[in-house]
Amino acid sequence: MKSTQTFDISHSCLLDATGQLTDSCPTSISAEHLRQAYATMVLIRAFDQKAIALQRTGKLGTYPSILGQEAISTAIGMTMQADDVFVPYYRDQAAQYLRGVSLTEILLYWGGDERGSNYASPKCAQDMPVCVPIATQYCHAAGIATAMKIRAEKRAVVVTCGDGATSKGDFLESLNLAGTWHLPMVMVVNNNQWAISTPRAKQCNAQTLAQKAIGAGVQGLVVDGNDYVGMAYELQKALSRAHAGKGPTLIEATSYRLGDHTTADDASRYRPAQELKAAWEKEPIKRLRHYLQTTGLWTDADEQALLLQVKADIDQVVADYTSIAADAPESMFTYLFEELPSARLNQYQQVANAAASRAVGGGSHHE
Ligand SMILES: [Mg+2]
Repeated sequence: MKSTQTFDISHSCLLDATGQLTDSCPTSISAEHLRQAYATMVLIRAFDQKAIALQRTGKLGTYPSILGQEAISTAIGMTMQADDVFVPYYRDQAAQYLRGVSLTEILLYWGGDERGSNYASPKCAQDMPVCVPIATQYCHAAGIATAMKIRAEKRAVVVTCGDGATSKGDFLESLNLAGTWHLPMVMVVNNNQWAISTPRAKQCNAQTLAQKAIGAGVQGLVVDGNDYVGMAYELQKALSRAHAGKGPTLIEATSYRLGDHTTADDASRYRPAQELKAAWEKEPIKRLRHYLQTTGLWTDADEQALLLQVKADIDQVVADYTSIAADAPESMFTYLFEELPSARLNQYQQVANAAASRAVGGGSHHE
C-alpha cells in the first residue's frame, strides 16, 4: 500500500518566548514597524484594562478582553493593505484601531450604541463591524472576496475567528469555497486555547486547527501568535499571495486567553491556575519589548514617554465616550434595516412609544 498524498503543517516561530529571534529579522519588517507595533500593543492592553473597569462600574456592556492576544490583532492591522477589507470577530481591538476605528467607537459598540459601528474614518469605511455570532462572518468574508475576484481587484479580505468557530459549518463551508474558487482571503484563527469554558482538546480531535485547510485545498500553517515578528511575516506572505491571485491562506495563530472569555465569565472556575501562570511567561508584549530593548530599538526613555502618552490617550477616550449622549432606543432598528420589515413594525413602535413617554432628561446612557 502506498500513500497517494502526504501533507505537512509548518509551525513558525521567529521571536521565541524569551524575546530572542531564532532567525534574522525579515527585511520586510522595519525597525519603525516594530516600534509602532509595540506601542500599539501597549496602548491596546491599557485600553482593554480600562474597558473592563468601565464594565465593572456599570458604564459598559459585556466586553471581551484581548489580554494576551495583542500580537495577532496588531500584526493584522499593521500588514493589511489600505484597500483590503477586514472582517473582524469580537477580539480584534488592535486591528480595528490600526485600520482607523477610534477607541471611542469601540467603547460605543460595547456600550450598546450602534454608532460604534458607523466608523467616522474613511480609512475603515469598507471594513465590516464586529461580528459576535460565531463564525458567521466567514460567510460574509467569502462573499466579499468573491466580489473582489469577479472584479479582478488586487485586494484581499482578512477574516478572523476563535478556535471554537472552526467547528462551525459557516467556517468550514467558507473555507471550502475559498479553496475551490481561489478566493483572495486570509483566514486567521486566534487559537487562545479556550472557547468560553471548552478547552482546545475538547473542541476538536485534530492535532492542529490549521490542517482543516488541507481538506479544502487551502494553504494552512501554524504560527506562534505571541510572536509578533512571525505573525507579521506570515501575514505579509499570505496577503501577497492573495493580492497576486494565488489563493487563500489559513493561519492558526496559537496564543492563550489570559483573561476571562468576556466580562460575563469567570475563568477561575474552570481554568487551571498553573496553566495560566505558564501562559503569562509566553505573553507577547514582554517578549517584543525584550527584543527591542536588547537590539537598541527601544530605550527606557521611550517606554516612559509611551506610558505617559497611553495614559493621556485612554483618559481622553473615556472622557469622549462618557460625554456622548444616548442615541434613540429605536436606533437598534434604524441602523439594522434600510426598510423596516412589517414583522418588526410593532416592536419598533413599542420601543419608540416607550422612549417618547419617558421623561426627557438628557444625560448619558453609559452611566
Ligand atoms: Mg478561543
